Amino acid sequence: MTDTTYGFDTLQIHAGARPDPATGARQTPIYQTTGYVFRDADHAAALFNLQEVGFIYSRLTNPTVAVLQERIATLEGGVGAVCCSSGHAAQIMALFPLMGPGKNIIASTRLYGGTVTQFGQTIKRFGWECKFVDFDDLDAVKAAVDDNTRAIFGEAIANPGGYIMDVRAIADIADAAEIPLIIDNTSATPYLCRPIELGATLVVHSTTKYLTGNGTVTGGCVVDSGKFDWSANDKFPSFSQPEPAYHGLKFHETFGSLAFTFHGIAIGLRDLGMTMNPQAAHYTLMGIETLSLRMERHVENAMKVAAWLENDDRIEKVTYAGLKSSPYFERVAKVCPKGAGALFTISVKGGYEACIKLVNALEIFSHVANLGDTRSLVIHSASTTHRQLSPEQQEAAGAGQNVVRISIGTEDANDLIADLDQALNKATS
Ligand SMILES: *Cc1c(COP(=O)(O)O)cnc(C)c1O
Repeated sequence: MTDTTYGFDTLQIHAGARPDPATGARQTPIYQTTGYVFRDADHAAALFNLQEVGFIYSRLTNPTVAVLQERIATLEGGVGAVCCSSGHAAQIMALFPLMGPGKNIIASTRLYGGTVTQFGQTIKRFGWECKFVDFDDLDAVKAAVDDNTRAIFGEAIANPGGYIMDVRAIADIADAAEIPLIIDNTSATPYLCRPIELGATLVVHSTTKYLTGNGTVTGGCVVDSGKFDWSANDKFPSFSQPEPAYHGLKFHETFGSLAFTFHGIAIGLRDLGMTMNPQAAHYTLMGIETLSLRMERHVENAMKVAAWLENDDRIEKVTYAGLKSSPYFERVAKVCPKGAGALFTISVKGGYEACIKLVNALEIFSHVANLGDTRSLVIHSASTTHRQLSPEQQEAAGAGQNVVRISIGTEDANDLIADLDQALNKATS
């Protein structure tokens, strides 16, 4: 089903899927196979030359994964998508065809902690550089762009500090510089935020989180808007120049708006191998069918719990953009009109010790390093994910000693509030 005029609730169930041609199976089968039989030698040759689209080997393409790719691309309003083994794999897959030694990206200072490490440390091994800039300072973002900049990267709703990015304003800067804007839409999901409509070129996801929604499998996805002109200048030779591994084929000239997607499969997955397996795609397809229903409840619960916490004497601060007290409250209507997500931090009176007692005393909330599950989750970053950092670095990362990150699930809001209440009593008495 490719009719993209249907509503979101219809597309999250049907986009990309059709009854199995072999058996009529209504649910998308798990095609648990590595190889696919070629009709004959000419068919095989055409597939390997990219002259015909089909299945060769599951490192590149798999029918179950293909359904998920089409589903996510449709929900984001993109032309194509490539699924990968994790959200972090998706980030490397998004950057890989744009970058080269000596090239750089500009990224927001407010990002998922793992992304700060990936961009701040690990990508240096490829000769890539990342400049971290405060995305509320548009002049600083403009000033950071140089001749070697190949992308701008930010999160629509940043994990975890309740920050909402002005996607449109940053897209204008990327457009002027003729470079793509990449948005990590993990915390928002396409139900709450549509980055491509706000000017993004590429959207990346950790499907591990809300898209799967049940905390079972890791996965990632890169969605292409199909709107970027890769041949406007010589900055993106992966698309505009002949590709030796495919007899000098030029991806942009040959595949047009699908250039990024074809490159992601034919070069990215082929050579980097960060492939999503069909079982993982199956779990994510199960989850995505109820995405809008879950996100509505996530947001409704987050509003109730955040409002209750804000009025509680034992709490110093709540950073939820859905609250009027948030400096980003005004941006919600522009960037994520259906809600500010379900992730925020609280600062607890009583500091480090109180936070430790709080996470130990909670009964419904689990203390884990995940987020975006139907289950409510907490983590005390200063004693876990951010414990190697100095107190000053923790503070700058929004992970101070007295800060607890909360991912609100889809349970009864009253139960969540009662659980926080009893745990706060134990933490601060
Ligand atoms: C979890 C997460 C990632 C990394 O995804 P993995 O699937 O864990 O590799 C990237 N960005 C954001 C916003 C995340 O929440």
